Parts: sequence; structure tokens; C-alpha cells
Amino acid sequence: MKKFLCLLILSLILLTSCGKKEEKTALDKIIERDVLIVGVKDDSKPFGFVSKATGELEGFDIDIARYIAKDILGSERKIKLVPITTDKRIESVTSGEVDLVIATMSITPQRQYLIDFSEPYYIAGQTALVKEDSDIHTFSDLKRKTIIISLGSTAEKNIRRIIPTARIVGYKTYKEAFQAFIDGKGDAISSDDSILSGMIMDKKGYRILKNKISYEPYAVGMQKYDDQKLKNTIDVIITRMKKDGTIKSLKQKWHLK
Ligand code: GLU
Repeated sequence: MKKFLCLLILSLILLTSCGKKEEKTALDKIIERDVLIVGVKDDSKPFGFVSKATGELEGFDIDIARYIAKDILGSERKIKLVPITTDKRIESVTSGEVDLVIATMSITPQRQYLIDFSEPYYIAGQTALVKEDSDIHTFSDLKRKTIIISLGSTAEKNIRRIIPTARIVGYKTYKEAFQAFIDGKGDAISSDDSILSGMIMDKKGYRILKNKISYEPYAVGMQKYDDQKLKNTIDVIITRMKKDGTIKSLKQKWHLK
């Protein structure tokens, strides 16, 4: 009787576990869809911007996105690039609009509550852009000035904390921010050194402050999934790109330090 009961319980366990379908992981879903959807910048040269020559999105972040698509799906063309602004990056990931966000996005403890990040692939630092002949040379010269920032950026948070007496004007895109600066709506633009130098790459009459007030490690953002398969896969890819010189040659390609 005891034997019979044991057998009955065992077969019940087997039956229920067979009937239970394995949940598909985020990575499985991407592979099944055969397209990787990535949120990128279209206003942040040289990370993500629209090429004047081709009208296509290109840049350092776009190349990383294509490399990941090739690694996961076998072709860098199996990708859908979705332009997003700084303030919409987290939402685009949590809502499921995109699988990944590769958009000059720094890892911060606050953001880590909301989304997961890969290993960092680039290190930037916050500074400020002023007119060449400006009397602003350090961040303390900005105490009573108007500073232009990109809404939702780490620069916005840092300026509010470090220079609370400064007046802040925010814009959704760097294109609008730079235009506002040219139009005299602010004394400086504050953002990452990498973004600011991209902004004035082919322009004269501007200067970037020497000191940096933050550490900005850029990483790939994704939803917090129960399983870590997508994050582990991206981490392996980024680590390999750093080890085999891919990141180094992409930095050279896009004139990044
Ligand atoms: N790296 C900074 C951030 O993640 C600035 C980038 C941006 O404004 O796009 O907020």
C-alpha cells in the first residue's frame, strides 16, 4: 500500500511538471521575433545621430547596438532603432517599447531601482560648454548663471544639487538645447564631456570647461527580468568587445577619448 501511494505521488508530480509550460525568457522572445528593438539617441553626436549624408541613424551607440544584434540574431540588420529622448529612456524600457536602451545612459543607483544595466562600455564625465570669450572658467563661476540642461539627464540632477543657486533651463533634445544656447537663453550647457564635444565637433567659438564634476559610466539598459539571461548575454558581449579591441576601435572611429 505504501509503495502504491509513493508511486501515485511520484506520477502526479511528473504529470504536473510535464503539463507546466516553460516561461519564455526575454531573450527567447527576441530570438523568436528575429529583430532586436533598441532605443537610441538621434541628437547626440557621435553616439546616436542622423547622418547628413545618408539620413540614417549612426554613431558609437548605434554600432554597439548593431554588434549586439549580430551576436544574438546573426545579422546587424536584424534591428529596429527607435529614437528616444533623455527623459524617456527608462519608460521606453519599462513599458516594453524597446528591448534595450543604448543611449548615452549612465548607471546611477536611482536608475538601478527601476531597470537593469549591463557592464559599462564607455566612461564620460559631466562638464559644461560656454562661449569661447565667456568669463566662466570653473563650475563656481556658474553660481548665479543660467545653465541649459537636457531634461532627465544626470546633469540636471547634479546641477540642482551642486549649484542650487544657478537658474536651470531644460530642453527635451540636445538640438533644442544647443539652439537655445546660440539664441542666448543660457550662459552654459551642462552635460557629459563626450556629448558636448560632439556638439561642437565642426563648430568654432566654443569652449568646454576643464573640470568634470561626475563619473558617468554608459551601459546598456533593460527591463528587470526574473531571469538574468538577457543581461548575462549582453554582459558577455560587452566584456568581449572590451577585451578584443572592438570598443577601442569604435572609439577611434567616432573620435572619442
Ligand atoms: N549620461 C547622462 C545621463 O545618462 C547624460 C546623457 C544624456 O543626456 O543623454 O543622463
